[in-house]
Amino acid sequence: MKALPAMQALLLDVADFDLEIARGQQEVSRLLKGEHIALLRDELAVVNEQFLALRNSEENLQQEIRKVSGDLDSVEKRIAHDQVLLNASTSSKDIDGIEHELRSLRQRKSDLEDTELGLLEQLDSVRAARLDAEDNKAKASAALNDQESSVEALLVKARSSLSLSQQQRATKVALLPAELSAVYERLASRGVAAARLTARDCGACRIALTAAAYDDVVATPADEIATCPNCQAILIRQ
Ligand SMILES: [Zn+2]
Repeated sequence: MKALPAMQALLLDVADFDLEIARGQQEVSRLLKGEHIALLRDELAVVNEQFLALRNSEENLQQEIRKVSGDLDSVEKRIAHDQVLLNASTSSKDIDGIEHELRSLRQRKSDLEDTELGLLEQLDSVRAARLDAEDNKAKASAALNDQESSVEALLVKARSSLSLSQQQRATKVALLPAELSAVYERLASRGVAAARLTARDCGACRIALTAAAYDDVVATPADEIATCPNCQAILIRQ
């Protein structure tokens, strides 16, 4: 097929843009896939679960403490009440009975106080762990936000440079004769469509032409396109 050498050389520019466009498209899809973002999202889900579990334990402990403290109140009231009865009693049988009850009430009170103390200690450590988890959650959330906005910025940049390459390619293609551009596009849909011939090497498939194939290419008139017998790319000879 006939094509002016200048038009053939133009194919190299188009091929360069095609390479750039392919790289740009890869970059955009890599960013859209957002693997790092998915990792950070998983991390946030884990720390959030830890936080929720600790907050739950904290609430349960607070509830238990309220119950124990209510029980303590009633025991104390009963002790005070028994004390009044004791002071007013004259019958030794009554006094014995009340004193017996007072002893068991005081034991109960001491048990409840121990329980309350134990629960308060547990609450302290759970609260500290919950505060840590809350902190971790805030940090994981900030890291995710940062990554999301930086990926957003990179995506804007990658898309705009891709669109620039596509425009520049279109400008070059518009200069080509229709027939040549049709051949180029057909080849480009399968791989590298045009490449420089350097010594005997095809720049597209990187394979050296055989001596006979090289002689054929060299013998092809300059205003006719020559192709690589191996990959069919148009070989630019200047
Ligand atoms: Zn080749």
